[in-house]
Amino acid sequence: MTTKIFTRPFTQQEPISDDAINAATEVLKSGRLHRYNSISNELSEASLLEQEYASFQGSRFCLACASGGYAMSVALKAAGLIADEKVLTNMYTLAPVPGSISNAGGEPIFIEINENLVLDLDDLSKKVVSSKARFLLISHMRGHLVDMDKLMQIVKENNLILIEDCAHTMGAKWNDERSGNFGLAGCFSTQTYKHLNSGEGGLLTSDDPEFMARAIILSGSYMLYERHGAAPNKEVFADIRLETPNYSGRMDNLRAAILRPQLKSLDKNIKRWNERYQLVEKKLKEVKGIKLPKRTAKESYVGSSIQFRIPGISPSDAAKFLEINKEHGVEIKWFGSDDPNGFTSNHKSWKYVKQQRLEYSDKILSGLFDLRLPLTFSLDDCSLLADIISECAQSFVSKTN
Ligand SMILES: *Cc1c(COP(=O)(O)O)cnc(C)c1O
Repeated sequence: MTTKIFTRPFTQQEPISDDAINAATEVLKSGRLHRYNSISNELSEASLLEQEYASFQGSRFCLACASGGYAMSVALKAAGLIADEKVLTNMYTLAPVPGSISNAGGEPIFIEINENLVLDLDDLSKKVVSSKARFLLISHMRGHLVDMDKLMQIVKENNLILIEDCAHTMGAKWNDERSGNFGLAGCFSTQTYKHLNSGEGGLLTSDDPEFMARAIILSGSYMLYERHGAAPNKEVFADIRLETPNYSGRMDNLRAAILRPQLKSLDKNIKRWNERYQLVEKKLKEVKGIKLPKRTAKESYVGSSIQFRIPGISPSDAAKFLEINKEHGVEIKWFGSDDPNGFTSNHKSWKYVKQQRLEYSDKILSGLFDLRLPLTFSLDDCSLLADIISECAQSFVSKTN
């Protein structure tokens, strides 16, 4: 067994840059932290962030809000979800996704995934018919994009309303189109572990004026929607402003101020993440018995985490595999556990949702491992951790071959 030890923490992000700290200090000095607390016609930091994010994303409109989960539940409401309506979504995702459906008053219907960790489009086609659902909230979980051309064909044929959870695909593209621009809306998170870091925060994008007007009023705009940075014309709000409740969930200027400089570095950071991802991927691919999800040339992804499978590994061996990696300093998550562990959970522990049979995907999750690749890891660190995983895997993969 390997004597190598990894000593870096898996949850440590890079420090906030000096220009972001300076921007935050300016907001603090002004005392104008609330997004509508601006002087005369100046656009607040939150409004400027909306403009800049819309421009980065290539969307007409953008709303800055409290979290990624909030963006998703507001998107469902603004798209017209009614109480107890069914929403199709991936079975492989994290708790904020079924949570946002529940928060919006909907009922999640889980779609199976395949070995590349994306939606099983045959199961989707079946369940669109059997559930009669109008909505699909797709979660591009861990940055894996399904064949978006095929997906959009199903969406169009069935008149589905598509909302994309892009918590792990901010900056990613399919066929040169940004993830988040395929359906009615894209939902992004700026929580610390995502691609921009403001502690908490969310961004909602769309090209649809009425949808965005409803989302802005829902977010709690106190009729100050004309001060938004990337909002539809005020005429669009004429009736919507009176018909739509206020579910306060705004972003403040302090968070927006530290996000704006980070957005400028996003493309550079995507390259850095992908160098790390590709290095680890290459090494793990060499291990017989370890399988990596296939990615096609149409997908330009952000490798901020990596997933691999050891098909056929038993639950007790999976637990041992995690343990020996941990003894060597490598923190791996496992999606096969029935019991939620920190950020990692699966449908069996979402007991507020009607339990559903997803045996095909359960089998995939039972051999699915996951680790973060924060930018605080150097390429040498990544090389070391891949070596440790490869060596720790030896005794387990030999059993499954
Ligand atoms: C983090 C995350 C979100 C949004 O999370 P918030 O904590 O609400 O910002 C949504 N979907 C997935 C898959 C996530 O990992």
